[in-house]
Amino acid sequence: MLLRHTPKDIKEREALTINPAKTCQPIGAMYAALGIHNCLPHSHGSQGCCSYHRSMLTRHFKEPVMATTSSFTEGSAVFGGQANLLTSVENIFSLYKPDVIAVHTTCLSETIGDDIVQIIAKAAEEGKIPADKYIIHANTPSYIGSHVTGFANMVKSMVKYFSLTTGVKDNKVNIIPGWVEPSDMREIKRLAVEMGVASIMFPDTSETMDRPQNGQFDMYGTGGTTIDELRATGDSLATLALGHDASVPAGELLNAKCKVKLYELDIPVGLAATDRFIKTLSEAAGVAVPESIERERGRLVDILTDNEQYFYNKRVALYGDPDQLVPLCEFLVDIGMQPVYVVTGTPGKYFDERMAEVLKGVPGAKFRQGAQADMFLLHQWIKNEPVDLLIGNTWGKYISRDENIPLIRFGFPIMDRVGHSYFPNVGYMGAIRLVEKLLNALLDERDRKAPEEKFELTF
Ligand code: SF4
Repeated sequence: MLLRHTPKDIKEREALTINPAKTCQPIGAMYAALGIHNCLPHSHGSQGCCSYHRSMLTRHFKEPVMATTSSFTEGSAVFGGQANLLTSVENIFSLYKPDVIAVHTTCLSETIGDDIVQIIAKAAEEGKIPADKYIIHANTPSYIGSHVTGFANMVKSMVKYFSLTTGVKDNKVNIIPGWVEPSDMREIKRLAVEMGVASIMFPDTSETMDRPQNGQFDMYGTGGTTIDELRATGDSLATLALGHDASVPAGELLNAKCKVKLYELDIPVGLAATDRFIKTLSEAAGVAVPESIERERGRLVDILTDNEQYFYNKRVALYGDPDQLVPLCEFLVDIGMQPVYVVTGTPGKYFDERMAEVLKGVPGAKFRQGAQADMFLLHQWIKNEPVDLLIGNTWGKYISRDENIPLIRFGFPIMDRVGHSYFPNVGYMGAIRLVEKLLNALLDERDRKAPEEKFELTF
């Protein structure tokens, strides 16, 4: 009973967050930067921030996460971090030889007010940036937004620094995948190939954050969106931005900068969101949906109709990122479950609007976003009226244990299990995996709790 002090009595809070359902902006910027080919993320702040952000990503992906830091001292906090960043740039290019350094700020450098654009210009002026090498940056103060905001800001920077238009459209479609696993990015690209669509995915962490072990040390991996691909995004036919919070800001900027038509979509989690993704991709690229994809869909519909009785009216509590929660809740509602409690620490009205729409038929559903939409509040709601299932990241295991509720791990971070970076949750195949996880959790629980006379070999 590690959370035994959580009271049932709910008091409105204004200035206190207890166990937030989000993490730091720079973690998102770091993760997005790892989706650029030969890119080294650089944390402009003190060593502690960078160590924390690297360790969170390493624990989730089970891969060594490379990133450098400006290593602020007390002196930098007083006089600013320009000297540290200039020295860092010189050292990084000479020692680690990345194609791109992606600088993100931290609470400290933002509070000091370091002007990164000016520092990058000074680095260029002093000849510290070799030919054909680049520095991009995103401002990521952690006291605003969340890791999702940081991800969005860095993806937007990719457009700001690299996207160009030659004035001649090619036949490619840009896909901004949002904050998803490397396995999800690979699956989205597979679907595009299956449909015969030439695509540019950015960022792309497949083959950087799920690299095979080959006995060789390779600092950057073979994956990631190349600079040439990032430049070419300006000539694409259209952009599919998956996820309002993580992807749409970059899609909007690309549209404003290079006039690339923007389609705003949910991350394709579940049946309906995948249908919308496939339909939009087919429309944007002007291709037909192949039978192979229709058959994948059919397999998902088959497993759903075979098992809908186990999902019916099961109460679920969820926490995580808005871009993931919206399509996931929609899927749960579609299969007869009741997502009754949903919280996200990532602030934004979009979550409220979409959740109101998605959960309008769920009796007693409560959802909240922002600083006080934390794990503590979620636990209080559960204590007042229990649920059958919990879905979210590793932090939920304390509630799961205390309340004796099965937990399905989903989202970021997952530090105590493996598989999430290898098996997709998106697309029809990802939805089949989600169904398997849901069923396993519910049926394991039923078997565990069944009295002897009701314990069945089959289900
Ligand atoms: S909240 Fe701010 S100071 Fe703390 S680790 Fe994150 S960026 Fe660093």
